[in-house]
Amino acid sequence: MSAVQIRLQERTAKAPLPEDAPTDGPLFDRHGRVHRDMRISLTDRCSLRCTYCMPEQGNEWLARQSILTLDEIVRVAEVAATHGISTFRLTGGEPLLRRDLADVVAALAALRRPDRPIQIAMTTNAIGLDARLPELIDAGLDRLNISIDTVRRDRFRELTRRDRFDDVLAGIRAAAASPLRPLKLNAVAMRGVNDDELADLVQFALDNGAQMRFIEQMPLDAGHTWDRQSMVTREEILECLGERWHLEPIPGRGGAPAETWRLDGSDHTVGVIASVTAPFCGACDRLRLTADGQLRNCLFSTREFDLMPVLRGGGSDADVERVLRGCIWGKLPGHAINDPGFLQPARGMNAIGG
Ligand code: SAM
Ligand code: SF4
Repeated sequence: MSAVQIRLQERTAKAPLPEDAPTDGPLFDRHGRVHRDMRISLTDRCSLRCTYCMPEQGNEWLARQSILTLDEIVRVAEVAATHGISTFRLTGGEPLLRRDLADVVAALAALRRPDRPIQIAMTTNAIGLDARLPELIDAGLDRLNISIDTVRRDRFRELTRRDRFDDVLAGIRAAAASPLRPLKLNAVAMRGVNDDELADLVQFALDNGAQMRFIEQMPLDAGHTWDRQSMVTREEILECLGERWHLEPIPGRGGAPAETWRLDGSDHTVGVIASVTAPFCGACDRLRLTADGQLRNCLFSTREFDLMPVLRGGGSDADVERVLRGCIWGKLPGHAINDPGFLQPARGMNAIGG
């Protein structure tokens, strides 16, 4: 076992199931939050190496045999949908690297019932999206979030360590021309890196019929190099955009991670995901399934609930449900990034599923 794998094992405890978790009803946690949104990471691999997410040389990839198969993913999703999960978001790593992506979408879409609508969304870097979008739409994909941190080609190459700007643009153009709406573009705001082009990014999104959303950088990089000082805060983002547009807050956020603002009284909007300076844990309705079959109740959790023994050891759907309910029940009230004792999870964002 490599040093990285040993560290990952030591730092990511396999959590025992809480004994007092409910056995029926909606997917509640101890703090009264009902869970409706499941993020499914399809792979930890990626076509880019964004500095805030992955080290230059990549990670020690998950072994292929430890990656959930299509059938295993759909089995977990079906149990989840039966008990109230109504949104599945496909992510990674880069979900477009998964060859059976359209089959995953189609299988999730097949879980829809007249009394059980299901939304299928995907977060992607858009490389190769132009070629695959028609099959994904045919399969039942509803929505796309595309990550783009800069509209400058040279900067893109530095930030992602790959010269794929044109591929991303092609993907965004294809998404803009498609019927999938709302279309959202995500950028991590970084001091001295892209904080001089926040307004340009908003304009780029508007030009492509999309909503721009800025994300505060979180301590989830695989290299563990996050530092609070270089993080651009929600306040700074709003101050910067406020110089160009009048920003009017849009109420009714619900459990959504982004707060949104209307631009100059128009229908155009911008969003900010301020996980660090304005955490929204109190309304969180999300859980995550990693590509290697671990359930996580929080991005920042250092504990995971292992579904593999159930999925590959002959467990029943009731056993899958028990792990789901236990994982959700064991969720902490908040992520504690701002506490002095905060411990960054061993996995980087690409391996958790953003
Ligand atoms: N590869 C796809 C992409 O980039 O959209 C999906 C996976 S990526 C991990 C999902 C989202 O997480 C992206 O929007 C990315 O910008 C964001 N992300 C990754 N590392 C982050 C960090 N340290 N802080 C904040 N957001 C991060
Ligand atoms: Fe890949 Fe997305 Fe991470 Fe960038 S943010 S390295 S595109 S997984």
